[in-house]
Amino acid sequence: MDARAILDKLVSFQTVSTVSNLDLVNWVEDYLKGHGVSPTLVYNDEGTKASLYANVGPEVEGGVVLSGHTDVVPVEGQAWDTDPFTVTEKDGRLYGRGTCDMKGFDALALAAVPLALKRGIKRPLQIALSYDEEVGCLGAPPMIAEMRKHLPAASAVVVGEPSMMKAVSGHKGSYGWWVHVHGFEVHSSLLHTGVNAIMYGVKLIEWANQVNDANMAATPSPLAAQFDPPFTTAHTGKIWGGTAHNITAKDCEFGIDFRLVPGEDINAYREAMLARVAEVEALMQDVVPETRIEITPRFHVPPLQPENEGEAERLVRQLTGDNASHVVSYGTEAGQFQEKDYSAIICGPGDIAQAHQPNEFLEISQFEAGQVFMEKLVDHLAE
Ligand SMILES: [Zn+2]
Repeated sequence: MDARAILDKLVSFQTVSTVSNLDLVNWVEDYLKGHGVSPTLVYNDEGTKASLYANVGPEVEGGVVLSGHTDVVPVEGQAWDTDPFTVTEKDGRLYGRGTCDMKGFDALALAAVPLALKRGIKRPLQIALSYDEEVGCLGAPPMIAEMRKHLPAASAVVVGEPSMMKAVSGHKGSYGWWVHVHGFEVHSSLLHTGVNAIMYGVKLIEWANQVNDANMAATPSPLAAQFDPPFTTAHTGKIWGGTAHNITAKDCEFGIDFRLVPGEDINAYREAMLARVAEVEALMQDVVPETRIEITPRFHVPPLQPENEGEAERLVRQLTGDNASHVVSYGTEAGQFQEKDYSAIICGPGDIAQAHQPNEFLEISQFEAGQVFMEKLVDHLAE
């Protein structure tokens, strides 16, 4: 099976993050076994999803990890001109959900397996496919922990998120909390005796606005200056609460997310947020003591810190000839690998602008550039 045939197969599995990815993972397992490779599956607690990792070639240190995710974002509410779960070739492009983000890279990585075995690589190619990347990079950390334990240490990780095959050495971190303000319901004509969860929640959201204003006004560090915007941001993207216009809201729930510049400390933001929560909660409890604010962590995607003379960056520059420096503002699993002491970089086919869109596509020229990359990587591992 060539990379294109594998891509067709991968796209046909409807692995939206809300459903199981086991059909896809089991297919990949069979494919690898067909080449004499024994992968390991790491299941979620419910047993409904799994990530997969495998060592291809000799069990020695110094190999390269190719990392991708198997899940895709939903197509509901999007106007597609073709069937999103069938790869359709048109005008030099491959249309389909996940062609760009990031089953195109997954297919290239899997197609490199027989190539590597035939070439007789001296250092291993390691395959790492996760789940639940699109809902906060939840699936990769348990897989990475297992890889650390059971596989010979790799010298570099290439995370194939769409980067137009450029070497992207840094990204912001992404951290989210869910806030549930538990207020007290009274008729709004007596609002001084109630605790309106929405109106107290707004005080926290206003704190997020102040964080953004202060960060925007500050002079960015040289690293921060490479990002757009060049500072850490706090954001509420969703809010829910209240029952009627004349009742003080009993409940209000919303998220507070941070996109963190590498090198900054998320704990400082977390502590500042919790301090503000305590202040607002004290105001609420002055009115009705049993009211409270509940904070639940939702996701934790560490930033990718550009490495000084990193092995992954050196390798990808050598293979692609890209010597410019690039950072991106979206989160990936690269920061999670780096957090576990891997040297990591992002490099994959396609443009992030096409990710998550209706009529998502991958340029065939990008897919071919990815194939050339894999051939060079296999040559490198055979040296
Ligand atoms: Zn992705």
